[in-house]
Amino acid sequence: MHIGSGPLLVVHDDAVRANTAFFAARTGGRLMAVLKADGFGHGSMARSVVEAGATSIGVTTVDEALAVRAGGADVPVLSWLNPVDGDFEAALRADVDLAVNSPELLNAVSRAALRTGRRARVHLHADVGMARDGAAPESWSALCSAAGLLGDRGTVRVVGVMGHMSCADRPDDPQNTRERLLFANAVRTARRRGLSGFVTHLAATAATLTGVGSGFDVHRIGAGLFGIDPSGTSSDLRPTLSLTAPVVGARSITPGTGVGYGQTHVADRRTNLALLPVGYGDGLPRAASGRAEVLVRGRRRPLVGRFSMDMVVVDTGDDLLHPGETATLFGCSDDGAPTVTDWAGWADTIAHEIVTRIGTRVARVHRTTTHAEEPAHA
Ligand SMILES: *Cc1c(COP(=O)(O)O)cnc(C)c1O
Repeated sequence: MHIGSGPLLVVHDDAVRANTAFFAARTGGRLMAVLKADGFGHGSMARSVVEAGATSIGVTTVDEALAVRAGGADVPVLSWLNPVDGDFEAALRADVDLAVNSPELLNAVSRAALRTGRRARVHLHADVGMARDGAAPESWSALCSAAGLLGDRGTVRVVGVMGHMSCADRPDDPQNTRERLLFANAVRTARRRGLSGFVTHLAATAATLTGVGSGFDVHRIGAGLFGIDPSGTSSDLRPTLSLTAPVVGARSITPGTGVGYGQTHVADRRTNLALLPVGYGDGLPRAASGRAEVLVRGRRRPLVGRFSMDMVVVDTGDDLLHPGETATLFGCSDDGAPTVTDWAGWADTIAHEIVTRIGTRVARVHRTTTHAEEPAHA
């Protein structure tokens, strides 16, 4: 791909490192960097976050964990969501820790340990209020006992107990207290079932920033590393992505001219339009049609009409742009460009969804303050 000719996503590694260092300090060095969904859409970030202070890495699937290992990360890597027939042999051969939430999954991991001759490091995952990927409270005690038995047989070692909070972005919600107590109980139950020597982890970004998940060993931080604060309480995080697109066409229009599919926008005055070759097929949320803005020539200008799959149209007012000029869809300096949080608002979603959806057609470069640009996937 010829970088520079089309839409471009710049990953600001230095900002990710600064955010990582912030959370490493905030958590007293007990920071699990969560790099699921291709590092929240940023690509391979394992090396950067470890250099900046992360002491372990968390991801969803075994495949993601193997990719992190292949990226050269030399810290514990945890994978926490897998089917019972997941490739646990590959995980164990790559020294990947596995979270389990049921005796079936635990047994599958134990069998893989027997086949590979490697003892599996497992984290028991307790549900504390999401009814999602943790073990239900009524099955927790049995899961701990089963893990204890397999521990005695030498196929698994319980190295962690984890939970995940449902409402940590609302620090005053009484549910937070309930979930912290439920988790403390789950940890106590694990100890009563004979397990010991494991770390505990409950808090993610919001619970860490607001303090509602404190009191446990490790913090699993994803969004915060990428400048996203779900709790809206911190001003210490730096945005990490910018998305630009070149102008590929420009024209003047007269009042009454309709723009795009359905002509949902009709110009009410003489104005100028510019065409950008990036659309919902590249991850721009179509729901933001009619609301979103971009930065051109130092000014915010509205995108008009419905977003197309491959392009959007900017109303540039009195300015007739030239092909080759650049528009910033979102940015990370204080030049007035929209942020991913602005985009989330325009699309009635959260910033996480904006950053994880930028498509493969968009060229991606990693930029640091000290190194020149290099292609992300050379
Ligand atoms: C995604 C996820 C995290 C990270 O949450 P953030 O809010 O992005 O920090 C932590 N733990 C689990 C289980 C997750 O699924």
